[in-house]
Amino acid sequence: MILLVCINCATAIRVIGEADEIDHLVGPHSQGWPDGWTCCQCEQAMTAMLETDASPDALARLKVIDLDPMEAYAAVNGLGYPPEQICQLETLRKLLTENTIAEVKGDNIPGTTRCRIEALVLSDGTKVYLGASEAGALVYRIRPPFSYAERISG
Ligand SMILES: [Zn+2]
Repeated sequence: MILLVCINCATAIRVIGEADEIDHLVGPHSQGWPDGWTCCQCEQAMTAMLETDASPDALARLKVIDLDPMEAYAAVNGLGYPPEQICQLETLRKLLTENTIAEVKGDNIPGTTRCRIEALVLSDGTKVYLGASEAGALVYRIRPPFSYAERISG
């Protein structure tokens, strides 16, 4: 099996599924192999490896999350873990009324008077990712606050 490992936050995604699908999405025949992935928790680089090449001691120190190949591919390409992709209006309303906005991530569009918002970081550390849709902003990922303590104890 393949592991996508983030040393920075001690997280590993274990990819479980059909061998050919793994190989082409996140394995040796994928574009990201072996270190072109971004950790969906801390946004640092991840390194892919065969699980058989990982030392059991090192593996024991990682929080391992099992995902199927498509889930893993989505996670390391900016969509986050499957629960983070559930972005219902009720959840967003609760988050935005119970928190303040701590940071607005985005930039100005050159040559225009417009700006582009990539994400909102809330006072509790939650990050709300925004994309475009025909009728307005699309919320495609809600990443809960990142906790190193949870990573270590979990
Ligand atoms: Zn990480």
